[in-house]
Amino acid sequence: MKVCRFDGDRLGVVEAGMVRDVTSVLDALPPQRWPAPHGDQVIANLPMLAQLMREAAKQPGAKAIPLADVRFNSPVANPTHIIAAPLNYPLHVQESHDPAINHGVHMPTHEGFDTPIDKFGLFLKSHTGLVGPGNGIDLHWPGRRNDHEVELAVVIGKGGKRIAREDAMGHVAGYSIGLDITVRGPEDRSFRKSADSYAVLGPWLVTADEIPNPGSLDLSLTVDGQPRQRSNTKHLIVDIPDLIRRASAVYALYPGDIIMTGTPDGVGEIPSGCTIHAWIERIGDMQVAVR
Ligand code: MN
Repeated sequence: MKVCRFDGDRLGVVEAGMVRDVTSVLDALPPQRWPAPHGDQVIANLPMLAQLMREAAKQPGAKAIPLADVRFNSPVANPTHIIAAPLNYPLHVQESHDPAINHGVHMPTHEGFDTPIDKFGLFLKSHTGLVGPGNGIDLHWPGRRNDHEVELAVVIGKGGKRIAREDAMGHVAGYSIGLDITVRGPEDRSFRKSADSYAVLGPWLVTADEIPNPGSLDLSLTVDGQPRQRSNTKHLIVDIPDLIRRASAVYALYPGDIIMTGTPDGVGEIPSGCTIHAWIERIGDMQVAVR
């Protein structure tokens, strides 16, 4: 199932080129009292809601809107964490020796460690920077190099702490396209990658049952039609189960948490006024305007 949030806070199911409005199923969510629990309530209740959504989408009165007429918001509204992997594709590690990328501060060298992530760990992006493709990206550092990074995004369904590698895939709700927007410079990653709109997720969440092998997906990104990034998730240095293991060893994960798995080579500048087009096999594609 492809689940989307659109035109503000409508809930939709994507089928055959149309979005079916199933917002009415939100009435089935349990009422909340202060303090609100961590996590996204739609993702937390997705196993229960999915059946209701299937039924609602089939109703003769269910509003159907062509994809082209829909403005997609982030399919996850309230993640607790956006966790991201640095330097997780070999060719991106190589290109990161370029001083225009590392600024002499963020060197990718990791002698004595098995992988860059064994040395550098993971990092957090602010969840308040999360938008959908329909919202677009607002550049916060004009005159500096703001870059695109296309990444497979894993959305956690069932939370947990110290999740074992062999149990990890059972904690996944689904997958989306992620953009880890980044200004190059000497500052900490969490600062450079957390400006408002610097985390894009979309266009929808594809539930895990539709993607049996997320470790073998083609992905690509163009800017104004010019090819920039093209790779396959089989090149991930630290794979998805191990990213979940490593993240959950440190942070308790909650439903709706997002793990951006790292970007392949080909990162580059997104000038104001350009349009990003990102695609991942079995998920779909999305266009994002840069302002
Ligand atoms: Mn990244």
